[in-house]
Amino acid sequence: MVNQASQPFGMGDPAEKEKVKAILSTVCDPEIPVLSVEDLGVIRGIEVSGNQVSIQLTPTYSGCPAMDTISDDIKSALKSAGYEPKIEMVLSPAWSTDWISQDGRKKMEAYGIAPPLEPLPDKLALLHDQKVVKCTRCGSKNTRLISQFGSTACKALFQCDDCHEPFDYFKCLK
Ligand SMILES: [Zn+2]
Repeated sequence: MVNQASQPFGMGDPAEKEKVKAILSTVCDPEIPVLSVEDLGVIRGIEVSGNQVSIQLTPTYSGCPAMDTISDDIKSALKSAGYEPKIEMVLSPAWSTDWISQDGRKKMEAYGIAPPLEPLPDKLALLHDQKVVKCTRCGSKNTRLISQFGSTACKALFQCDDCHEPFDYFKCLK
């Protein structure tokens, strides 16, 4: 018996789908190379039929140039594994930083980018201007915003007032 609830990624042979997911886990965000497209949460659906693979992809920041790269990288990774890939862009519901996996958040922090804050603290931070972005080096919450734009438009630059380490913060997007 097939349990639909255990198949969140739509139709198709589950074993084939696992293979495709394994390939997708090797495709990384060009801006944050430690994050795979799975960690980012941009894969909305996978359909496998023979060697035909259809991937539903939701872009992160609209106009983020990384998205074209990600789409091309997914295609070439699947092609080199012998698949005929097709990418379908799904614009609704819009991606938000809440979709980044817990694993992904840990990887980001280890990489030196403060992950986006959970929904509630971030809203409180905006309302009350609280310094709740943790330093990626020492974990201190005594940090401040240096620039709205870090190394890319998706990130802001923060600096820690305790260890003086400057670091990127991946901005929340709702
Ligand atoms: Zn620090």
